[in-house]
Amino acid sequence: MKVKYLILGAGPTGLGAAYRLKDLGEQDYLLLEKNPWVGGLATSFKDDAGFWWDIGGHVQFSHYKYFDDVMDLSLGKDGWLEHERESWVWIKNRFVPYPFQNNIRYLPKESVWKCLKGIIEITKNPLARKPANFAEWTQSIFGAGIGEEFMNPYNFKVWAYPLTELAYHWIGERVSVVDLNRVLENVILERDDVSWGPNNKFRFPKQGGTGAIWHAVGKMVGADKTRTNCTVTRINAQERSVLLSDGSSVQYEHLLSTMPLDICAGLVSEIPDALKQRAGGLKYSSTNIVGVGLRGQPKPELESKCWMYFPESDCPFYRVTLFSKYSPLNVPDIKTQFSLMTETSESPAKPVNHKTLLEETISGLRNTKLISDKDQIVSTWTFHAPYGYPTPSLERDAIIKDVMPALQKLGVYSRGRFGGWKYEVANQDHSFMQGVEWADYMLKGVEESTFKV
Ligand SMILES: Cc1cc2nc3c(=O)[nH]c(=O)nc-3n(C[C@H](O)[C@H](O)[C@H](O)COP(=O)(O)OP(=O)(O)OC[C@H]3O[C@@H](n4cnc5c(N)ncnc54)[C@H](O)[C@@H]3O)c2cc1C
Repeated sequence: MKVKYLILGAGPTGLGAAYRLKDLGEQDYLLLEKNPWVGGLATSFKDDAGFWWDIGGHVQFSHYKYFDDVMDLSLGKDGWLEHERESWVWIKNRFVPYPFQNNIRYLPKESVWKCLKGIIEITKNPLARKPANFAEWTQSIFGAGIGEEFMNPYNFKVWAYPLTELAYHWIGERVSVVDLNRVLENVILERDDVSWGPNNKFRFPKQGGTGAIWHAVGKMVGADKTRTNCTVTRINAQERSVLLSDGSSVQYEHLLSTMPLDICAGLVSEIPDALKQRAGGLKYSSTNIVGVGLRGQPKPELESKCWMYFPESDCPFYRVTLFSKYSPLNVPDIKTQFSLMTETSESPAKPVNHKTLLEETISGLRNTKLISDKDQIVSTWTFHAPYGYPTPSLERDAIIKDVMPALQKLGVYSRGRFGGWKYEVANQDHSFMQGVEWADYMLKGVEESTFKV
């Protein structure tokens, strides 16, 4: 079999590429996907009791009109529910609104003073050189107090690597940095300074979780253009063909891979072993999702919250989403049930015992008072994503700079959350647009703007 455009992986990136090819009038393309479903990490599952789960709480913050238009088309304008993105940190037995640094007044007085002392110290004596890593960056931006209370333990729980091994230049708009005047004003005037509000909304599918979006996009792209249960085991760049696990092969003129970059480099026959090993140096963490379906109603304190962050060690998870709030149809009967979805990271530096995780998660939900002994658990669901977060490690960019051009020289374009390995452009909108921009580059020569080596 031969196609003009071959796309490996039918997650948001692969679907974005295929959608754009079709949009530009190109019909000669094919998607190969190893899973039985399309959507990649942006997939949803219905458990045996009828509760829906995402692979972690998926929220869309779109940066692109093209993406928004496709989202409208995918589910129709009525296929969505809109929410204010209300997020909180659970710490010291209380909820603190996010961003933490602007709301330290919620903490016990000794902790408020500890945080303030740290900010005063860095204001008086700023670091005179560029921070060497994420640990130094947090210390220099937030001060030692906020670092010890929240930033360091929370970030280790999310990233699953020591913060000294992480870079910080990727942060950009993602973290609201600290401003002494603002923090003091909030403390003294007892003012809330939150990240949500009328302009801070997100939308979520009414039915079928995040996966419903990508199923719909898959249909728009064409079921006849997608082969599921189809694992690529080798890429022969010279011959422009890929080998599949069933022994068959597909020839192509142009190739986009959205599988993890380290795996992709490993599959290309023409890539030297030393470079394959270099690609193997890219760090990543796995994500463990535990969903808990409950009979009853969330306690009043939880009702308005979308998701919560957990920096402390009394629970394995770093984040919990009140998933029944995202859509009443995420549970079989919203009048009598609700659901909590937890995320726990894992890496060689932060191992997780999969046998005990469910039990530890339920204890953690009790320790953090999200559920009480009275709440009746009616369903649990677990999912392990081996590749969950592409780690922005210190060596990441240098490895990408070595590996990516070598692949592109062979005509292998690698894009997407793990295809490009850049966490800062790895959400659904970025990933979809990386695919779209690859198609634009292929057909029209337009330079890509979301992914840059
Ligand atoms: C815990 C968690 C929370 C998230 N939260 C959000 C959020 O709130 N908002 C948001 O916008 N995004 C969120 N994301 C990110 C979102 O899931 C990604 O942006 C998106 O799925 C990336 O799409 P992709 O196509 O690049 O990669 P993937 O979704 O990983 O798709 C790659 C595809 O390639 C396939 N593949 C791999 N190897 C092969 C092979 N050898 N042969 C054939 N196929 C192969 C895989 O099966 C997969 O389907 C979250 C992700 C996680 C893990």
